[in-house]
Amino acid sequence: MNDKVNITTIIIVMLILTGSYFNFTSLYYLIPVVLTYVIINAVGSSRIQLNYFFPSYCNATTTKKEIALTFDDGPHPVITPKLIELLDSYNTPATFFCTGKNAVANPKIVTTIINKGHLIGNHSYGHSRFFDLFSSKNMQKEILDTNEVITTITGKTPRLFRPPYGVTNPMLSKALIKTNMVSVGWSLRSYDTVKSSKKVMAKLTDDTKAGDIVLFHDTNPNVITIIEDYLFWLQKNDFKIVSLTSLLNIPAYED
Ligand SMILES: [Zn+2]
Repeated sequence: MNDKVNITTIIIVMLILTGSYFNFTSLYYLIPVVLTYVIINAVGSSRIQLNYFFPSYCNATTTKKEIALTFDDGPHPVITPKLIELLDSYNTPATFFCTGKNAVANPKIVTTIINKGHLIGNHSYGHSRFFDLFSSKNMQKEILDTNEVITTITGKTPRLFRPPYGVTNPMLSKALIKTNMVSVGWSLRSYDTVKSSKKVMAKLTDDTKAGDIVLFHDTNPNVITIIEDYLFWLQKNDFKIVSLTSLLNIPAYED
């Protein structure tokens, strides 16, 4: 998609430049073209679901009432173990997109995640606020360093990467190809870190649909009560929670 926009923009710019040279058009026409290009790229970069720079798995096309739960930013020393216990009591699989730095700090929890039958994905090493401004080389290092930490602890090398803040750009596209990682986004964002538990639940019960990948954070203390209520609601409404890999039918780890 990004390629098509680039080519179209270049063609339009060339036409305007040529037209201006022969006095058919004004160079001022370049202003709306450049502005439109900047806006399209900004929106494409901030919405992972648009698959603008590279494809991401954001949901499954299915009529079965199946969804997958994902938890970003952990493992957290207190919240993640509690969450695993809760998920266990409902016999519910989940995927934890861990940062390398938190995996290093909490290796036992990383092991528990795997031993309890959940999946682990890669969510960068440091989760820098400026991750999207990193060079492709630095992004590759973040991805590979995190994979190395997880492999050392669990013996499994993740293939699934969730971009920090869901931001996508050409540098990350290159980094994912070089590291042989697959991007996973989401179709339903709970906003659990910014909204009250009540508002989060209202959104979840309104918007949950078949094939959803739902985004939560296991660094947020409210996530326990939210998940408790959500699991109860899902069960009552005949939704089945499946693992991300069975929802998407892709492997979670390298062979
Ligand atoms: Zn994150």
